[in-house]
Amino acid sequence: MKASDRQLGMSAAISRRDFLNGVSVAVGAAVLPSTSGAADIGEQDLAGYYPPRLSGMRGSHAGSFEVAHGPRDGASWDGEDTGEKYDLVVVGGGISGLSAAYFYRQAMGDAARILILDNHDDFGGHAKRNEFEIDGRQMIGYGGTMLLEAPGSYPNVAKRLIREIGIDTQRFYTAFDSDLYASLGLSRGIFFDKAIFGSDYLATGDVTDPDVLQHIPLSEEGKADLARLLADERHYLGDLARSAQIDYLVSTDYRTYLRDRAGIGEEALKVLESLPRSVWAIGIDALPARTAWSSGYPGFGDLELGIFAYSRDETEPNIFHFPDGNASVARLLVRNMIPGAAPGDDMEDIVTARFDYRRLDDPRSAVGIRLNSTAVRVRHVDDKPGNPVRVTYVRDGKASSVMAGQVVMACYHAMIPRLCPEMPQAQRELLSRSLRAPLVYTNVLIRNWTSFANLGLHRVSCPGSYHHRVMLDYPVSLGDYQCPKQPDEPIILHLERVPGRPGRSAREQFAAGQRELLATPFEVFERNVRDQLGRMLGDGGFDPARDIAAITVNRWPHGYAYGYDPGTDRVAFEPGQWPQEKRHWQQGSQRFGNISIAATDAASNAMTESAIEEAYRAVDELSQAK
Ligand SMILES: Cc1cc2nc3c(=O)[nH]c(=O)nc-3n(C[C@H](O)[C@H](O)[C@H](O)COP(=O)(O)OP(=O)(O)OC[C@H]3O[C@@H](n4cnc5c(N)ncnc54)[C@H](O)[C@@H]3O)c2cc1C
Repeated sequence: MKASDRQLGMSAAISRRDFLNGVSVAVGAAVLPSTSGAADIGEQDLAGYYPPRLSGMRGSHAGSFEVAHGPRDGASWDGEDTGEKYDLVVVGGGISGLSAAYFYRQAMGDAARILILDNHDDFGGHAKRNEFEIDGRQMIGYGGTMLLEAPGSYPNVAKRLIREIGIDTQRFYTAFDSDLYASLGLSRGIFFDKAIFGSDYLATGDVTDPDVLQHIPLSEEGKADLARLLADERHYLGDLARSAQIDYLVSTDYRTYLRDRAGIGEEALKVLESLPRSVWAIGIDALPARTAWSSGYPGFGDLELGIFAYSRDETEPNIFHFPDGNASVARLLVRNMIPGAAPGDDMEDIVTARFDYRRLDDPRSAVGIRLNSTAVRVRHVDDKPGNPVRVTYVRDGKASSVMAGQVVMACYHAMIPRLCPEMPQAQRELLSRSLRAPLVYTNVLIRNWTSFANLGLHRVSCPGSYHHRVMLDYPVSLGDYQCPKQPDEPIILHLERVPGRPGRSAREQFAAGQRELLATPFEVFERNVRDQLGRMLGDGGFDPARDIAAITVNRWPHGYAYGYDPGTDRVAFEPGQWPQEKRHWQQGSQRFGNISIAATDAASNAMTESAIEEAYRAVDELSQAK
């Protein structure tokens, strides 16, 4: 081991660290007692199976994606018939698949027999829970879907489901300690990474403040560019008529707009480079300027295009966040349908409820969730679209098949043509235009956050760094779960990374990022986490070798769902603005016989409300086919 790695703590025993490819890395004296990894998690029917507690490489974990890539590479399976018959089989156990099962029960009655298949070792799709334990204390984080955004403006069906499973979004006002970090004098900051800016520098506070701005490692010209842009008092399209302004913004990326129109130089552009990554999974170089404008990013001043307005129901909070993000939405859905799977009956006790995974696929229950099971073939009997459907899946290397009266495909649309090659060619072509953008949420458990307190920070954007954002967990206490409130308590840091190759089209960047994610071992993430946090927080007393207790990398090669237009290579970041005839995600998602199609891909909108609404539509289409 290199001396630099030793200093970073790469030799430290981290609980449940890396089990990539099923090989468990030998760790020294375990920091935490409950060490277990993907390699030894066992079957969901065995006692002790509890995937939220796993760390190391999670999200699209080893063992979850290899089979799914098989049909792409020409593999085929002839599954052994289990003899099971279901009214409905759902392919995909994300929010959309779980919602589809929920709506199907409402439409067909609680006796309807439903099986949900998912390729991961846990349910929820992107809505995943990460748990840690340190010094006997349970720490809960989110491994993907973070929050309900503007639940007050959710469409009716999604609003109703959220209410029916017991979520009172008003509760956020009392659960979220919105003043905590400000009361401790903590603010936002920017970490200027030496790899891009020549030297490491941590700017604390608002960079529009001249006292902060004067110290950042940019030339005077770069600082002036940044100050002018962030003041955001004007736009740079005054010479164009409104329709020409819209055309320009639609066809131009945000970076080019800032450079060519606003006259922003390369230095300031580097500071802004990762601005949209968290929301759109892409940098400024491939985000349409129009989307930057509608997102409220700087550089558009009072530009009024007359085509966009958010309407928000002010009676509800703008966000709702559980400590495990929307994993609690998934958990509430599962507990609703399989009551024996977890104790409790409200949105408070779901937060700390420990699920008994042995109950998820119990033949005595009308609803079952079969994990580690990748659907590889979905086919009407005798290829007649009115007939029942045989669903073949692979689990533990073994192919099996079950019969379903009807099927909801709540999985990635781009793979449906391979699972259902009997679908009309035109529909398969439309489905194959769906994209999923890759992104990573890394959770780092640290023993205390005194370094953040010393530096006066709670959230840092890091242009040019491996992880582009680092933040202390949201201070939310619900049920028996109390968030850390004192800097000497342990806390989960949330880090984000969007892989890709800047300079290419968004679609090409997504593809490059997917390849990169699956080829990057945990060790590379770990080294980068330690190095970045060490450089960023070192002046506050942070020592990565001492202070990091555990790391969980949630990699999502197939993250945000988007449609795209092969003719122009444009991604539908704002699907509502696309002409109706180009919305292939709608046309491609039509029912095919007894198979209907849900998931966020059906809306080109990676949002929880779309996952729910598309599930409802898919079930409604099946009801009408009955
Ligand atoms: C890191 C991250 C953060 C996000 N944050 C937010 C947020 O804060 N708020 C928000 O509203 N949205 C957020 N989203 C968007 C999120 O994608 C949606 O909100 C929603 O959770 C997607 O649900 P889904 O069921 O459509 O898809 P998914 O969650 O992708 O679920 C589909 C499931 O089907 C499985 N599957 C695919 N193929 C097969 C097969 N052949 N056999 C069996 N199973 C299969 C997949 O592996 C997956 O588990 C986030 C997404 C990511 C990746």
